[in-house]
Amino acid sequence: MIPEDLLQLLRCPLDTSIPLEYQAESAAKLPALRCTRCSLLYPVRDEIPCMLPEEAVLPPGCPDIDHLPCQKSRKHS
Ligand SMILES: [Zn+2]
Repeated sequence: MIPEDLLQLLRCPLDTSIPLEYQAESAAKLPALRCTRCSLLYPVRDEIPCMLPEEAVLPPGCPDIDHLPCQKSRKHS
């Protein structure tokens, strides 16, 4: 479990204006932090969130990271 105060500080690394939510069970087969906009799942291993987009689990139907809303907004800003 991620402490609530830490969770409040974490943001999607693709777009740092977007908060994350904790999911005890996720498609990543591990607890994960889910981006509340792009639904990318950042796996939490041994209570440590892995915030690398390259290791995150893409939402169903999303072929690659460039299709995610957060990644698109980063390219445009
Ligand atoms: Zn995102």
